[in-house]
Amino acid sequence: MIFDIYDYPLYRPPSEANSLIIQVTLGCSHNKCTFCNMYNEKKFKIKSIEQIKKEIDFFRHQRQFVRRIFLADGDALIIKTSTLLEIANYLNEKFPENERISIYASPKSLILKTPEELKKLKEIGIKLIYIGLESGDNEILTKVNKGNTAEEFMIGIKKAKEAGFQTSVTIIAGLAGKDKIASKNHALKTAYVIQETSPTYLGILCLSLLPNTILGKQAERKEFIEANGLEIIEEIKVIIENLSINIDSPIIIRANHISNYLNLQGTLPQDKNLILNEINHALNNGNPIKRASHNSL
Ligand code: SF4
Repeated sequence: MIFDIYDYPLYRPPSEANSLIIQVTLGCSHNKCTFCNMYNEKKFKIKSIEQIKKEIDFFRHQRQFVRRIFLADGDALIIKTSTLLEIANYLNEKFPENERISIYASPKSLILKTPEELKKLKEIGIKLIYIGLESGDNEILTKVNKGNTAEEFMIGIKKAKEAGFQTSVTIIAGLAGKDKIASKNHALKTAYVIQETSPTYLGILCLSLLPNTILGKQAERKEFIEANGLEIIEEIKVIIENLSINIDSPIIIRANHISNYLNLQGTLPQDKNLILNEINHALNNGNPIKRASHNSL
């Protein structure tokens, strides 16, 4: 029974919807971001290699064909390299048809690994790394207790790219709140980090205030004032306007998460005007409504 294997709640990026999820860690090694409640109930733990192999065996019996595998929960890259190599090796042995292994990572887990270790992990089949940047503005990163600076994110993302990984970076529009100056700083500094690191994918989420989070409580006490849909779309416009991306290292943009007020998809630099036109259309005509409230992928 799948329900006996997974420890819920279980999160994965939208693009991993059809992937086999192997839960190699439980919870998040940081677990302190003020806007996040994903792993409130879980104490971070790395599963034993014996347990992970048992679960892989279980899924091999269950699934006839697996094209993609995602290693959950949060920051699974924090696992020591020799163990990750053993996991990937076992997955390759049991799922020879699999084309890609992907994983969540943090700047810390990327910085702790040597370039040689990262290259080995890439070579064994881990191809895509998901990183939650949220903002390129250190003031906001400190306020939301992200645990890393924009500079550390840049070092981590660049290191992942140099090792040959595809990178998928997520940002949260609206994280600066309603204040116009803070919103502009968030947009400009986030655009700067994205431009400097040029990830393969950029995922744009919109902030959802969740009642059982520190940020949600700050909002209840009026210490954080939420931006409205139009203000958030305006912020996304500033981010896109300020991204000058080289044609040789394009960025695939996706703002199609349930938290988004406006669905956007395209590739920079070629679709920049198209995306900006859609944003302008929404700003001129819209009364944007989001589909659901959630900050996690
Ligand atoms: S946002 Fe990511 S790093 Fe922060 S607590 Fe949630 S899962 Fe952990």
